[in-house]
Amino acid sequence: MQTKEDYILMRSARRSLVLTVNAEGRVVVRAPQRTPVADIERFILSHTAWIARRRAELARVRPDLTDGGTLCVFGIPRTIVQGSRARLAGDTLLLPSSAREEALVALLKKLSRERMGALLHEYAARYGFSYSSLRITSARGRWGSCSEKGNISFSFRTAFLSEEEARYLAVHELCHTRRMDHSPAFWKEVGAILPDFLRIRKGLRKKGAYMAFL
Ligand SMILES: [Zn+2]
Repeated sequence: MQTKEDYILMRSARRSLVLTVNAEGRVVVRAPQRTPVADIERFILSHTAWIARRRAELARVRPDLTDGGTLCVFGIPRTIVQGSRARLAGDTLLLPSSAREEALVALLKKLSRERMGALLHEYAARYGFSYSSLRITSARGRWGSCSEKGNISFSFRTAFLSEEEARYLAVHELCHTRRMDHSPAFWKEVGAILPDFLRIRKGLRKKGAYMAFL
């Protein structure tokens, strides 16, 4: 038996099969080391309806970039209207008539750089963190990262997120300049700055669909 589904297989020392649909709509299967491929593909086939439902959910949050459509920028819904160039104006998001997506991505890159840069600066000054550089990337799958050398990166998709979510991400990556792991000591450091971080992190986990578009 063979599934037509193109899937990503990740084997590990786990005991059971787990299936997810990633932000790009691809099936990801986590499997024990020795489970036969035939069993894995049977497992995928038995979840066909569930996979279709997950994909439909992902498609629903995909933005409608036509005039009158809505898109959250900085966590606030903005109505899309036509303008000579991409920019935010109150509750409206102006986009040019052609190459809208490219213009929007360029705007989101600029907005995320300004906001994340300001937040890094603010928290670094207040809590004595030091970092080397800020980079805005098109990475999917993660909102931000921090290298051993203290180079911090954020996805331009952070521009979709609310102020408190952006603050949490800035604090999270800055705390990595002191600790590269996600140990209890790391979370203690995050919690000392943002006592409410667990609630924010939980909300952020539901926003993975923003990784799927653009
Ligand atoms: Zn982390």
